[in-house]
Amino acid sequence: MVTPSLVKQYVYCPTLPWLEVRVGRLEPPTPSMESAILTADEKEEIAREAGIPPPYRVEIPLEYPRLRLRGVIDLVAGPHGRRGYWIMEAKKHPRRPRASKHFQAQLLAYALLATKTLGPVYRATLYIGGTTRTLEINQRHLQTAEKLVKKTLKIVEEEEPPLTRQPPQKCMYCFYRKLCPNANPHL
Ligand code: SF4
Repeated sequence: MVTPSLVKQYVYCPTLPWLEVRVGRLEPPTPSMESAILTADEKEEIAREAGIPPPYRVEIPLEYPRLRLRGVIDLVAGPHGRRGYWIMEAKKHPRRPRASKHFQAQLLAYALLATKTLGPVYRATLYIGGTTRTLEINQRHLQTAEKLVKKTLKIVEEEEPPLTRQPPQKCMYCFYRKLCPNANPHL
């Protein structure tokens, strides 16, 4: 199975999901990471401030075996009549750059997962450390997400890591740098 988090990793660097599945998650639960966890009440508050109409369900585990995709969605609002659901993914602390495409890829993978398991998703909001971005979900978004899920699955099933080369600034702060066969040699 792959998760929207692995899809995010794939878009950031295709070697990351391969390493995460092969050697496990290396990121230690540091105090700063623990403080980055939002409570269910905080997620609901963020949703209210973003103008997302209730009812809310928080931290919903979903699984779609046909695509071998599963994950826990931060917040699902709705259904809102025939339009369906509005989902939200929230990260407490600001990241740079905030509009990075790997965060959007993760959001789209959640939209796909919710569409396949709950029903149509018409909006998806990404909250990152005080800023929100909302997408009107369309068929193209879902097709993009499905392609990314399949590419991520293919990578994690390979015996060998993908051949990639990332810029030094990415590898420098990567938790897997010491184990990674593709780490940039010019560090
Ligand atoms: S060290 Fe570099 S190439 Fe390896 S997983 Fe990290 S970012 Fe990707």
